[in-house]
Order: sequence, then structure tokens, then C-alpha cells
Amino acid sequence: MKNYIVFDLEWNQSIEGKEHSIEHFPFEIIEIGAVKLDERRNMVSEFHGLITPQVYVELHRKILEVTHMDMETLKREGRLFPEVIKEFLEWCGPDCRFCTWGAMDLTELQRNMEYYQVEIPFERPLYYLDIQKLYALQKGNGKERVSLDRAVEELELLEERPFHRALDDAYYTGKVMQEIDLETWGKYLSIDYYWIPGRRAEEIYLEFPTYAKYVSRGFETKEEILADKVVTDMICQKCHRMLRKKMQWFSVNQKQYFCLAVCPEHGFVRGKIRIKKTEDGRLYGVKTMKLVDENAAQDVFKKKEEQREKRRENRIRKVHR
Ligand SMILES: [Zn+2]
Repeated sequence: MKNYIVFDLEWNQSIEGKEHSIEHFPFEIIEIGAVKLDERRNMVSEFHGLITPQVYVELHRKILEVTHMDMETLKREGRLFPEVIKEFLEWCGPDCRFCTWGAMDLTELQRNMEYYQVEIPFERPLYYLDIQKLYALQKGNGKERVSLDRAVEELELLEERPFHRALDDAYYTGKVMQEIDLETWGKYLSIDYYWIPGRRAEEIYLEFPTYAKYVSRGFETKEEILADKVVTDMICQKCHRMLRKKMQWFSVNQKQYFCLAVCPEHGFVRGKIRIKKTEDGRLYGVKTMKLVDENAAQDVFKKKEEQREKRRENRIRKVHR
């Protein structure tokens, strides 16, 4: 029996700006709020913990404005992070599926655990449900991400509870989650990228109804990633054929690459590689392979044409400077 843990964090940051924050610790968690839903998605329990910050001890203006939290309360009612996280994990139980609104919270949670040297007991890879993404998928094409406030409004779930405190936001995220058709959309698991594969055997390949996703291990350089055959191979998720490319990989901005392949049986497959950076500075690639129609295939051609045009303009500009 698996419980769903829907949680939300509030965090503080350096008031002197990003460049004054500690490396790998840009955000210090000051509040954890969570609701537990059972298998049938009944809300069965709540968790709330305030944390007295130890690193960024003045509240950033943004946090004050959004959460209306004050340092006095955090000092008076807060406890130390290791104590609160221990209690939180015990409350979660051993077998749970984390759910969050958006993709940041699990990463920041683990960064804080690492900083405070709390052992991270999560499965690797760590899969979770991004309710913001699932809501976008259920509503439309999955591309338009809306704020929690807006989703709550659209679903008419508003209650006498404010927004932007961790427990309230977790509660509302739980309410939105209850409205998601998990039979259809629950398959779209998200992967938390705090941990990434260390070797080939750990690399991740996932198939979703409309696309497949692959996460490479860490590399030293981008060139090594793009020279790796497993990274650049294109596969049809329907028949698992290795595909011939109609258009080789090309970059649009140094961090994103596209290609177009074709399956003789299932048609065009669009490839996309995003280059990302790990906590310790290694690079890895996240590749998606998606079956697309003729129009979307044409868009890939256009994208490449645009890139070529941009590069040409840049060259001209350089010459005239
Ligand atoms: Zn195929």
C-alpha cells in the first residue's frame, strides 16, 4: 500500500543576492508542510514544521512579501532542520510517492539534507508526481503551466485558507491531485535530477504513452555526451526499432539539441536533448523521443533553418563591427 505525500516547502535566501549564497545551498528551508493521501487519495494526515534558519538569518524581502513569515516566529517556534526533517521522514513512512507542485522542492529538500549531513534515504532514481505538470496534461497539451492559485480557482476548490504558507499550499496541491485522473496521467512520472546515474548500467529509460525519456550518466564535457552513441541513438517507442535520422542533431542554444528520425512503420520521431549540470559540475543529457505528425516534423526543419539564419546574421554583424 502506497501513500502519497504531497508536500511544499518555503525557503529563504541570501538578502545580499545570489552571488553571496553558499555553493550548493542557495535556499535554506524554513517551513515544511505536507498532507498524506492514502491509496484512494483520501487525506488522512497533515504535517507542519517550522525551521529556524542557521545560514541566511535575515528574511529576504521576497519571502516576507509572499509568505508573511517573520524571523521572530521562526526563532520562537522553529526547530533545527535535522530534527524537523527526521520527524517528517518518519511521518512519511517507508513506502510513499512524493507529489509536489512544480519540479523544485525535492531537489531543494535534498540539498538541505546534504548541507546538514542528514542521510538521504530515497530510492534512486527518485520518481515523483509533479501535480502542476499532470494538471497541465489533463487540461491541455501539457505545455501551459499555471500557478497553484489559478488551478485551485479553475477547479473551484477555494476554501477559507490562505495561500503561500507551506501547509496550505500542500493542502491545495492535494486537493488538485484528487481531481487528476491518475489512471490516465499518473503514468507521467517525473524524475528528480538531484541524483543522476553514475554509470551506464544506471542510466534511465522510461516510456510514456506519447514519448520516451532517457537520462544519461554524468560526463566531463558536452562533447563526450554528444559522442556517446546511446545518447544520440533514436528509437521508436512503439516498435523499439533503431531509427534512421532524417536530420542529424543540431543545437539551438548550446543547451538544447534536436533531430528528426523516421520509423518505417510509425512515422516521424522528434529527438530532443537537453544538456544539464549536476551538483558537482558534471554534465548529463536528458533525451526525449516523441512520435510526431508531419506538421511537427516540418517545425524541426524550420527550427534548423532559423538557426542557420541566426548564425549567418551573427557572422555579418561581426564583420561590420
Ligand atoms: Zn516504430
